[in-house]
Amino acid sequence: MADIQNLEQRFENISVQDENLDLNAAVAQQHKQKGSLSHAISLSNLGASTSQNRLKLPLQKIPTNAQSKPPPAIAQSTTTTNVTKITLPSQAAQQQQRSSADSRPSDPDPIAQLPSEPKPKPKQFHLGMFEIGKPLGKGKFGRVYLARERGTGFVCALKVLHKSELQHGKVEKQVRREIEIQSNLAHPNILRLYGHFHDSKRIFLILEFAGKGELYKHLRKAQRFPEPQAAQYVAQMASALKYLHKKHVIHRDIKPENILVGLHGEIKISDFGWSVHAPNNRRNTMCGTLDYLPPEMLRSSRDDKDNFYSEKVDLWSLGVLTYEFLVGEAPFEDSAVMTQKRIARCEMTIPGFLSSEARDLIKRLLVLDPEKRLSLEEVEVHPWIVKHCAKGGERAYNRNSQEKGGQ
Ligand code: ATP
Ligand code: MG
Repeated sequence: MADIQNLEQRFENISVQDENLDLNAAVAQQHKQKGSLSHAISLSNLGASTSQNRLKLPLQKIPTNAQSKPPPAIAQSTTTTNVTKITLPSQAAQQQQRSSADSRPSDPDPIAQLPSEPKPKPKQFHLGMFEIGKPLGKGKFGRVYLARERGTGFVCALKVLHKSELQHGKVEKQVRREIEIQSNLAHPNILRLYGHFHDSKRIFLILEFAGKGELYKHLRKAQRFPEPQAAQYVAQMASALKYLHKKHVIHRDIKPENILVGLHGEIKISDFGWSVHAPNNRRNTMCGTLDYLPPEMLRSSRDDKDNFYSEKVDLWSLGVLTYEFLVGEAPFEDSAVMTQKRIARCEMTIPGFLSSEARDLIKRLLVLDPEKRLSLEEVEVHPWIVKHCAKGGERAYNRNSQEKGGQ
């Protein structure tokens, strides 16, 4: 317990600073870096303010033995290049983390968490404080690595974004917003952003590690999910979306590609920062993923789109997601032109193998009039969810992992 308190104090005081350590050197043996590093640019606000950069690690997620020595379940083979083999924490450690996460208040009030006494000068964070492990994947603007914070042994995912690529893609603003928004969210079914730091060329995001990777891959492998599993996923989505909407965050880009899976099979929404603040960008750059576009986003003109959206767009997408989980393909999948036409008319066929309850939920979410869609509260008590989840929402994943040993 004393250890935890020490750690809490320590992390409360950690923030981040510019650091010119070279990750490329650390990972060069594993990866050839893509993109040019020669056009280093400055992103004016990113990393400029200490308070904004303040690292918010989930204190309850740090193993109790972390400060004195690395968790025993984390194997390490340090090499001269700093590349480290990081294996996953044991099930027991994760179990401990999860039960702590469960007791976390659903909507922590940052004001309430302010200390009563002034704090010592924050400790600065930098790349050298992380051991870099295997690459986890590559996105449009960067690569993601498994990483471990040296001092605590805390395992996380480090996303490396190149400033020049962000500038080239005109997405600096979106990234800034993504960081601002995501670092203020704490929910078991939303991927945590614990903090960020940067050097002259790159931005580093310290993310929660989603041990089972992309939900999309699980779905493609399984072709479609059994109804109990799909219902648990939908309940978790409803819980996460309820939390987001309460904070006035609209995801706008719900789809299996943007959902990761935790070690226990619980789902973790990611990538919401982009879509919340860049709907136009999304539509222009991501053709081929029209399947999840709500009809009101098709209808609204480019200029008034921002005013037109409401959080109901996420309910439509939740309907599409439910369908895709159960059928294995999105309901309006077609050529780009036809998909848009079919969305505008809500033209879909629900296969006969779906239960009547599942069919009912899909039909009540995929409603053209945004106001007439089922609310998230109604989703949580819908007969299909109730049938498959002992408790709706965020606790559903516990049941899932216990019964199925995680997916
Ligand atoms: P986009 O550029 O549109 O965001 P993306 O989501 O695939 O695409 P990234 O977020 O950069 O791109 O992630 C790249 C890949 O790395 C993901 O597809 C996933 O496989 C893996 N990944 C990302 N974040 C994590 C994480 N926190 N835990 C585990 N794996 C992750
Ligand atoms: Mg992503």
